[in-house]
Amino acid sequence: MKILSASDLSRDLRSRLKTRLKDHRVGLTVVRVGDDPASQVYVANKIRACAEVGLHGQEVHLPATTSSDVLKTALVNLNENPNVHGILLQLPLPAGLAKNVGLDATDWISPAKDADGLTSINQGRLHQGRPHDGPALAVRPCTPAGIIELLKFYEVPLRGVEVVIVGRSSIVGRPAAELFLREDATVTVAHSQSKDLAQICRRADVLVVAAGKMGLIGREHVKKGAVIVDVGIHRGPDGKLCGDVRQSEIADLASACTPVPGGVGPMTITMLLQNTVDLYFAAQSQRSTSPQGNRI
Ligand code: NAD
Repeated sequence: MKILSASDLSRDLRSRLKTRLKDHRVGLTVVRVGDDPASQVYVANKIRACAEVGLHGQEVHLPATTSSDVLKTALVNLNENPNVHGILLQLPLPAGLAKNVGLDATDWISPAKDADGLTSINQGRLHQGRPHDGPALAVRPCTPAGIIELLKFYEVPLRGVEVVIVGRSSIVGRPAAELFLREDATVTVAHSQSKDLAQICRRADVLVVAAGKMGLIGREHVKKGAVIVDVGIHRGPDGKLCGDVRQSEIADLASACTPVPGGVGPMTITMLLQNTVDLYFAAQSQRSTSPQGNRI
C-alpha cells in the first residue's frame, strides 16, 4: 500500500506561496472561541505555517462565555481591517454559541475574506458548481480542497470513478462531494444513518472517511485496490495520532492511503494559506479594475 504523504506537495505549494508573497503584506486572522484543547493546537499550527510562508498570521482568542453579539462585532471589525485579507473562525464553537448561532456565525465573515470557504455565499457558489477561479473568486473549503490536490498530485484517476465519502458535515463531507463531482467522479455520501456502511464503502475506488470515529473503517469496508483518504484525527490509547481507518488492517487490500498524521492535516493548512493569498490578490485586482476602487 502506497502512503500518500502530503510532505512533498505541501512543501512545494508553500514555497510557491512564499514567492508570490514577496513584497506583499498579507494578513490572516484566526478567531478561536473557548478552550477546546484540539482547536488550540490546530490554531497554533496554522499561525506557525503562516510565518513559514511570510503571511502575517494572528490569533484572536475570545473566552468561552463570549456572546454572539461580541463574536459578530469581532468578525465585522476584521472585515473592515485593511491589514486582514483572510479570516477563519475556528470550529467547533463552544456549546452555547454553537446552539444559538451555529454555522450562521461564519456568515459574519465577508465572503471576500472567507479563507475557509464556509460562508453561505461561498458554499452556495460551490454547490452551484461555479468554478472557484471564475469571475468571482470563491475559495474552496480547505480540507476537501486539500484532499483533491493531494489525489491529483499522486495522479489518482477521478473521472468516472466511484467515490464514497463517509460523513456529511458542512466542513468536510458535503463540500468534498461537490469537489469530486467537479472532477466528474460518481459520488455517494454515507453518514451515521446509512444502512450497511461496509457494502456502500466496498463500491469505492476512492474512499474518503470523515466520520470522526476512531477506527471506524476496516477490512470489511475496502475493495481491493481502493485508494483511501483518512480525514479523521484522534489521539489513540497509545498516545499516538490516528485516523478513522484501521490502517494496518487494509495494508494488503488498499492500493494507497493517506497517513495520519502527515496527510490531510498538512494539506488543510496549506489550502488555508493558499486561499488567503488568492483572496488578497483577487482583492488587489478588483481594486485596480474598479473605477471607484470598491472592495469586493
Ligand atoms: P462531524 O462530526 O461534523 O461529522 C461527522 C460525520 O460523520 C457526520 O455527517 C455523521 O453522519 C458521520 N458519521 C458519524 N458516525 C458515523 C458512522 N458510524 N457511520 C457513518 N457515518 C458516520 O465531523 P467533521 O467536522 O466532518 O470531521 C470529521 C473528522 O475529520 C473528525 O475526526 C475531525 O477531527 C477530522 N477533521 C480533520 C481535518 C484535518 O485537517 N485533517 C479537518 C477537519 C476535520
